Amino acid sequence: MELRAVRGMNDILPDEMVRWHRLEAAFRHQAELHGYAEVRTPLLEHTALFTRSIGETTDVVEKEMYSFERHGDALTVRPEGTASAARAYVEHQMHAKEPISRWYYLGPMFRGERPAKGRYRQFYQAGCELYGDPGPLCDAEMIDLISGFFKAIGIPGFKVHINTLGSGGTRERYRDALLAYFTPMRDKLSEDSQRRLEKNPLRVLDSKSAADREASLGAPALIDFIDDADREHWKGLLGALDTLGVDYAVDPTLVRGLDYYTRTLFEVRSTTSDLGSQNTLCGGGRYDTMIEQLGGQKVPAIGFAMGMERLLASIPEGAKKAGPDAYLVPLTPKGAERGLILGRELRALGVVTELDGRGGKLKAMMSRAEKRAARFAVLLGDELDRGVVSLKDLAARQQEELAIEGAARIIADRVQSQRDAGLSAEGAR
Ligand code: AMP
Repeated sequence: MELRAVRGMNDILPDEMVRWHRLEAAFRHQAELHGYAEVRTPLLEHTALFTRSIGETTDVVEKEMYSFERHGDALTVRPEGTASAARAYVEHQMHAKEPISRWYYLGPMFRGERPAKGRYRQFYQAGCELYGDPGPLCDAEMIDLISGFFKAIGIPGFKVHINTLGSGGTRERYRDALLAYFTPMRDKLSEDSQRRLEKNPLRVLDSKSAADREASLGAPALIDFIDDADREHWKGLLGALDTLGVDYAVDPTLVRGLDYYTRTLFEVRSTTSDLGSQNTLCGGGRYDTMIEQLGGQKVPAIGFAMGMERLLASIPEGAKKAGPDAYLVPLTPKGAERGLILGRELRALGVVTELDGRGGKLKAMMSRAEKRAARFAVLLGDELDRGVVSLKDLAARQQEELAIEGAARIIADRVQSQRDAGLSAEGAR
C-alpha cells in the first residue's frame, strides 16, 4: 500500500511556511493590539463538551467529529476552538480572577467534512474569545478587529454579514414559528432537514441543500421575534458599527451551523475569491449562555474563528520565497574551515546563513547560491592566504574583497541596511 496523507489533510511544506508565518504574526499583532493574549488547549477533549455546547443536531456533532474511546473515556479531536476555550475558562475559574478575559488561539481543527477547495478535514483556525462583557460595544470592536486585520493582510474584497438571534425565549418562539412554516412543505425538504425539523428547525435555514434553500425563501425572520432588550442590543451594535465606519450587510437568513449563539451573529465573506460556497473567511457571534451551561457562572461571551487556508487563498501571492542572507562558498579545505567559523559568527549577528558543504567547482556552487535565492555569496578561496574573502552581492552583481577579520560584522551591517530598505530575503519575509 502506498502511504499518503489522509484525505482532506494537507502537508504544509517549508516553501509555503513563509506566508503562514507572516499571516500568523499579523494575527497575533492585531489580537494583541486589542488586549488579547494567547491560550493553548489540548487537541483532545471529552466528546460531551462538544455535543453539549455545539448542539446534538448540528452537522459538526452529527456527522463530522473524529471521536474514539481510549482508557474508558469518550474523546473527540477538537472540531473548533470555542468550546475548548470555554471549558478552560470555567475549569480555571477565570471569572473570579479577572472581570474580563480576552483570549486568542491558533491551531488545527478536525472535521470529517467532504473535502473540496477551501474545505479540509484538518484545517487551521485563528480565533478570539472575549468573556465577561455583554456588549454591544465590544461586539462592534470585535468585528472591527477582524475587518482591520483583513485590510492589514491585503484581503482584496470582503463583506461583513450580521444578524441577531435574540436571547432567552426568542429562539423558542422563533422555533415554533419556523416549525409551523416548514411543516406543510415537509416533503420538499432534504432528508436531514425532515429528520431534524421538530428538534431544530433553524438548521433548515443554513442547510446547503438547494431544496431547503428554496423552501426557506419565505420563512419568517428572526428579527421579528426578538424582545426589547435584544432590540436595544442590536441597535447599539449597528450604531457602533456605523461609528466605526464598518461596511456591513444585515442578513436575516444568517443562522450559522452551531447551536450556541445568542444575539450577535456575524460572518465575513470574500467577495473576490473563487472558493464558491467556501467563501466564508470568518464566522462568529455571542454565546451568552455557554459558560453557565458548562458549569460556570453566568458570564456573557463573544468570539470568532477564521480559516487560515481560506485567508491564504484569498491573499495575492506576494513576495517570492525568501532564501538565506548569506551563502558561503568554500573553495579550498582552508576555506571550508574558515567557512564553518564565519557561518557561526554571521548567525550570531542575526544573518540567515547557509554553507555549501557539497563542494565542487565555483560555477556549480554559485549556481546553487542563485537557486537558493541568496542575497550575498561569500567566496572562501585562495584569497584567504591574503587574509581576505570575496563578498558578492547577487542582486547588484557586484563583488568586493573584505578582510576576514571583521567580515561578519560588515556583512551583517549590509544585510541590515538592505532589510531596512525592504530588499533582502528577511525584508521580504
Ligand atoms: P466555524 O467554526 O464553522 O464557524 O468556521 C469558522 C471559519 O473556519 C470558516 O469561516 C472557515 O473559514 C473556516 N473553516 C470551517 N470549516 C472549515 C473546513 N472544513 N476547512 C477549511 N476551513 C474551514
